[in-house]
Amino acid sequence: MVCQATDIPGSINIFLSIVVLKGFKPNICPSHYFLHLHIIFVTHQDQAAHMFNLILFGPPGSGKGTQSEKLVEKYGLIHLSTGNLLREEISNRTPLGLEAKNFIDRGQLVPDEVVIGMIDSSLEMHKDASGFLFDGFPRTVAQAHALDRLLALKRTEISIVLALEVTEEELIQRLLNRGKTSGRSDDNDEAIIHKRFTVYNNETAPVADYYKKAHKFKAIPGEGSVNEIFASLRKAIDMALAS
Ligand code: AMP
Repeated sequence: MVCQATDIPGSINIFLSIVVLKGFKPNICPSHYFLHLHIIFVTHQDQAAHMFNLILFGPPGSGKGTQSEKLVEKYGLIHLSTGNLLREEISNRTPLGLEAKNFIDRGQLVPDEVVIGMIDSSLEMHKDASGFLFDGFPRTVAQAHALDRLLALKRTEISIVLALEVTEEELIQRLLNRGKTSGRSDDNDEAIIHKRFTVYNNETAPVADYYKKAHKFKAIPGEGSVNEIFASLRKAIDMALAS
């Protein structure tokens, strides 16, 4: 049987070229070689299809960071926090970090294209991840659309959005307390905290409706002990994983 290059889809051709470039010399007939590569390719696609991608949603101070740390450990997910990534850029004094600091210090959102670019690079860096936990992203409907597109390119999607619900009085107390030790400029000033809530209500709350329409949204009570909240999140995740 003659195996022609035109029979092979482009993406597999590229993969085949890489394998050949890396010095792999098959000791089998080309048609079997192609079949073998096809199996590898399909397996890779299947892995993407079975990824579990979670968004931990909620206003500033709702406990996303604390719960994310516990959840990534429990479920082996890659934690992608745009707030953490931005603070890392700031502490490394990169041009992106210095630009972002102007927005963060005023309680405003960093422009969509900046955070979407960061998420895109992070997804690329973790090609073999079994799933991602998005914390503090998406924060606008435009970011939610972009995330859907980026995940679709990887043949996967958001599995579930869990939203931590906490009253505004409790949030303010938590943020002011955190500000005493976190060293975060945006947690120390009550006026900036209020600005962050306004931005949340105007720009981020509509993201919840976006995922409600997609039947992926679930509210979780965000008050109580860290372990109680963790147990509620686990229950919701385990149900989603079982369905
Ligand atoms: P966080 O640590 O998630 O509370 O984020 C701290 C600050 O970083 C926010 O108040 C925003 O200024 C900025 N930031 C974090 N994530 C995003 C995002 N997805 N879109 C825009 N700005 C963000």
